[in-house]
Amino acid sequence: MEYERGRKDGVPSNVGPKPTFTGHAMQDTLLDDGDKGEVRVYSVVFEPRARTYWHSHAAGQTLLVNSGEGMVENSDGDKRVVRAGDVVWSPPGEVHWHGAGPGSFLSHTAVSLGLTSWSGEVSDEHYRDAFEGA
Ligand code: MN
Repeated sequence: MEYERGRKDGVPSNVGPKPTFTGHAMQDTLLDDGDKGEVRVYSVVFEPRARTYWHSHAAGQTLLVNSGEGMVENSDGDKRVVRAGDVVWSPPGEVHWHGAGPGSFLSHTAVSLGLTSWSGEVSDEHYRDAFEGA
């Protein structure tokens, strides 16, 4: 077992624009197993309307929602408004996005397993429609 309070392994916080996010998000890498590439744990805070691009995780991902309100949606259109305490599992290879709601920040911890494959942006129109139907 390895345990370290607030472990970040020296990876700096990422507060700038990210090529795979729309809008502004801040990300801390809490755990990174390096070349093994099996598990990454991130703490992410999205500003209102900020979200990831469409993507999938080779071995799946668990999201633990810490505060705020947001959404997780997969490419089949299955979507869920998420709030503090919610836990969302995205199965291996399932294409999805996650981000904040239009009127709230979202803070989540992401446990990502295997490589992440990125696709295109979640358009403003798609984002708007997703919340209107939620
Ligand atoms: Mn994900």
